[in-house]
Amino acid sequence: MGLEDFLGNGFVATRVKDLLAWGRKNSLWPMPFGTACCAIEMMSTMSSRYDLARFGAEVVRFSPRQADMMIVGGRVTLKMMPVLQRIWLQMPEPKWCISMGACASCGGVFDTYTMIQGVDQFIPVDVYIPGCPPRPENLIDAVRLIQDQVSAHEIQRIMDERTGVPNVERLQHMHALRAEQAASAGKKGVLPIIGGDA
Ligand code: SF4
Repeated sequence: MGLEDFLGNGFVATRVKDLLAWGRKNSLWPMPFGTACCAIEMMSTMSSRYDLARFGAEVVRFSPRQADMMIVGGRVTLKMMPVLQRIWLQMPEPKWCISMGACASCGGVFDTYTMIQGVDQFIPVDVYIPGCPPRPENLIDAVRLIQDQVSAHEIQRIMDERTGVPNVERLQHMHALRAEQAASAGKKGVLPIIGGDA
């Protein structure tokens, strides 16, 4: 049954921002950053048994410039973090991030000098999934929480919080932030971004 069958000869009144949010909410494009066992659960979530396509979020393309939902699943080492940061910066706004599992969220049992003790020290995380490993249902739940944020028009607030600057000045501010990040490489919480344009 198509939309025209549902509407008949009637019409729908809505606001443009509601229409945009509805489209965004139902077409999230994931950027998977899977490094360990949690990534297997992530793959399982995309498979036919759990079928993330039911929520419009199955288009996994490994192309950050076309993705808007980062899923970090697995352990992230100090050496990998600049790569993760760079991929995150390459994703256009508005974008969201899911930290999947104990390792991504807090280092899990790997309290070692090589391991990042929570990716939120370096990139903003919108939804955390507990567990070792979390089940596919947990990831689906996280995607639905992101969808709630999108449909609640949280985009502007989240972007303003990230940048600290509302609306038109945001882009300039983000460029300045990147330059600052590169300059302060080595300080706690900031790793150098690999050379070249993000
Ligand atoms: S949280 Fe558990 S399942 Fe996930 S990557 Fe860490 S050890 Fe593996």
